[in-house]
Amino acid sequence: MIKRAYIDLEACNQSEDCSARQHCSKEAIKFEDGKIYVNQLCTGCGKCKRHCDNKAIRLI
Ligand code: SF4
Repeated sequence: MIKRAYIDLEACNQSEDCSARQHCSKEAIKFEDGKIYVNQLCTGCGKCKRHCDNKAIRLI
């Protein structure tokens, strides 16, 4: 089963320009109406997790 990125919103600072979001080559981390989320394009590569300064991303 493919894992996908999960963002812990309590740990995430929910910034539109976060480093994790910028490193996703699939553009799977979206920011809309002030909310950040991961969409179905996520392949679970883990790049975002490595770049998240707040350690708010897990692969589940
Ligand atoms: S795991 Fe990879 S594809 Fe999924 S949101 Fe993170 S960087 Fe993007």
